[in-house]
Amino acid sequence: MGTIIALLVVCLPTVTVGYIGWCYASPWGTCRRCAPGGKNRTCRACDGTGMRPRLGWQLYVYLRRLHRDGTR
Ligand SMILES: [Zn+2]
Repeated sequence: MGTIIALLVVCLPTVTVGYIGWCYASPWGTCRRCAPGGKNRTCRACDGTGMRPRLGWQLYVYLRRLHRDGTR
């Protein structure tokens, strides 16, 4: 049991850093709603662009805005 927890403690930061790096490298993912058939002009999820910001990127933008508003 202790080994699993130790493994989690080591893995979690690695995964988190990897995900942040992945978000930073490509903040835009393909829209899941219209990805199979290509762009869909009437898609509401992505406004017809076929691209959607990743959750991590949205979080980063939100935190950045929060920080900017807080320090102003
Ligand atoms: Zn879409």
